[in-house]
Amino acid sequence: MKHSDWLWDVHSECDACIGHRSIYLTFDDGPHPLCTPQILNLLAEHRVPATFFVIGTYALGQPELIQRMVAEGHEVGNHTMTHPDLSRCGFDEVQREIFDANAAIMMACPQASVRHLRAPYGSWTEEVFAASAIAELAAIKWSVDPRDWSCPGVDTIVDAVLESAKPGAIVRLHDGFPPDELVAVSGAGLRDQTVTAVSRLIPALLERGFQIRSLPHFD
Ligand SMILES: [Zn+2]
Repeated sequence: MKHSDWLWDVHSECDACIGHRSIYLTFDDGPHPLCTPQILNLLAEHRVPATFFVIGTYALGQPELIQRMVAEGHEVGNHTMTHPDLSRCGFDEVQREIFDANAAIMMACPQASVRHLRAPYGSWTEEVFAASAIAELAAIKWSVDPRDWSCPGVDTIVDAVLESAKPGAIVRLHDGFPPDELVAVSGAGLRDQTVTAVSRLIPALLERGFQIRSLPHFD
């Protein structure tokens, strides 16, 4: 994949010609044993798919959640093995982080087919693009970021998404925490704002005529 090919949003000629308004919900930093099932339940309730950019070490610890994502029709993407800032890693380490996460996802669920990469912290470098291309993963950024990770309040998350929602938009949300933040948070209520926001966002987006889809395959 060339540098210019990484994606903020999804442009589809097919969408334009048949008048679909597709939007893509993506969830980073899971799977998390408490938060991810809540998100999966909401998606199942509304019968809409999403894309989960999972951390490899978490996938190994929660294989049943990867299996559930795949069984329920969601895309599982690569968010590296340990969630480092890849701009601070050498090329070998970048490759290992991506390769190991792919292997972890496949070990958790052999039926998974990993097609997408999201670099932690949106930290894309030439090395990351090169490693992504070698691994045959599409580089995925986002076009709508309601900053749900900072817990700004449910209304703020919902309003931020609805204000920026447009056909092809990729929305970035979180169903977990990076390893370095996990020690600071524990117990229930971890991603309550995101979960509640998603419960309001899905019907609101559908009402506005959007089709909620998982990220397409770009090969
Ligand atoms: Zn992340």
